[in-house]
Order: sequence, then structure tokens, then C-alpha cells
Amino acid sequence: MALTVSQLASGYGRLQVLFGISLEVPERSIVSLIGPNGAGKTTTLLSIMGVVKPWGGSVVFNGRDITKAPPYEKVEMGLALVPEGRRLFIEMTVEENLLMGAYTRRAREKMYDTLEFVYTLFPRLKERRRQKAGTMSGGEQQMLALARALMSRPKVLLIDEPSAGLAPKVVNDLFQTIRQLREDMAILLVEQNVAASLEISDYVYVLENGRIVLQGDPREVVENEHIKKAYLGV
Ligand code: ATP
Repeated sequence: MALTVSQLASGYGRLQVLFGISLEVPERSIVSLIGPNGAGKTTTLLSIMGVVKPWGGSVVFNGRDITKAPPYEKVEMGLALVPEGRRLFIEMTVEENLLMGAYTRRAREKMYDTLEFVYTLFPRLKERRRQKAGTMSGGEQQMLALARALMSRPKVLLIDEPSAGLAPKVVNDLFQTIRQLREDMAILLVEQNVAASLEISDYVYVLENGRIVLQGDPREVVENEHIKKAYLGV
């Protein structure tokens, strides 16, 4: 298993948000975490990364307990996060943003090889490599955020709401790229776009009020009456 989260509890100050989340992400798979606004999806990713400190439970990466490791160490080990809202350096060029993603020792050594790989995956970013990140379209910025995370050469990639604010055609292209990445890494995907994420996922967890309320094969999850009503509008 690439990533195993067990009984993860977490929150902010005195506000508890996660009440014992357990989930697994196998190698070469896409696992989706869906749920309504405020359910704790982002908090789950931040707690796995260590940006928010877990209150309890464990995070095991490739057999190693990394619950208490600081975020930069986790990136060095091979965990990466594509944050909600992209968090790009908007005044910097596309290429500068990408090179910033290769700041760990392991990634720096292979920085220019990885850059070539990333440009093959996203030819558009290569064309635009001298352009300021802030002047790119929403879809291009999301691709850049994803590409920047890839620069750290992750084995497990956490992606937070990549489709937010993007047109359906752009979402489709982006998801095709995410599907391609599965050949090389394990992906935990947080999405509001439930229909689209179910299509590319190997396994799905449904998070409500800080608890996993349902999990399974996407083909089973779409047939669930609660999911149909609450998430798919049928
Ligand atoms: P969304 O889709 O709206 O981003 P989410 O499922 O990702 O929802 P979280 O962002 O994890 O949910 O938020 C879960 C709860 O934690 C919410 O009640 C939110 O108000 C609260 N919360 C999130 N970030 C903070 C913070 N920095 N300080 C205090 N409370 C926070």
C-alpha cells in the first residue's frame, strides 16, 4: 500500500474536524475523496501532509510511519500536495514556478530531466514557459499547479479540487492527464465534481461531518440512493 491512513483525528484550535478517518491508497491507483462543503476533505489532505498537525491516528507511507514528520520531509520522501486554489507564484514565470517545485534534495538532482518530462506531459506549459503564471487561464494555472507538484517526483500525489472553476472541456483534459499519471504513482483526489471523479477513480470514499460514511468501487457508489440524491442530482 502506498499510503495508509488510520483513525486520523484533526482540527483547528478547539474545533475538531476529523473524527477517525481511515483510508488506503494502493500503488498505481486513483482514490477519490468526495463529500459536501465543510466535510473535512481539505483538512484530511493537510493533516496527511502535516501542514495541519494530526491529533491522533497514523499516516503510513510505503510502510513507514510518517505521522509526525514535518511537511518538507514528507515531500523529500515522495509525498506531494496540489493545493486548493493552486497557490502559484503569480509574478513568476511558468518555468520559475516549475523549478520551485524541485526544491528537495532528491528532486533537485534530476530537476532538468523532470522538467523535460513535465513539458512532454503539458506541451502548453512549454510554449508558455516565459509567461507570468498569473496571466495564464484558469485551466493552464491548474495544469501548472499539478506540474509543479510533479517536479518533486512524488510517489503519492494529493490533489485538492483541481476542477474548481474550470470549464467542462478543460476538466476533461485535466482528468485525462491525471489518469495518465496513475501509471507512475498513487493519487488521492479530492473533488466536488463527483460525476467526473467517479469516472477516473479506482476506489471512492465519501466523507461527511469528518467521518467516512461510505466507501467502495465507483460503480457501486454511483448506484447508492444517498449518493444519487445528494451528489449526482438524480
Ligand atoms: P470545501 O469543499 O468547502 O473546501 P472541505 O470538505 O474541504 O470543504 P475543510 O476545508 O476541510 O472542508 O473544512 C472543514 C471544517 O474545518 C469547516 O468547518 C471549516 O470551517 C473548518 N476550517 C477549515 N480551515 C480552518 C482553519 N484554518 N481554521 C479554522 N477552521 C477551519
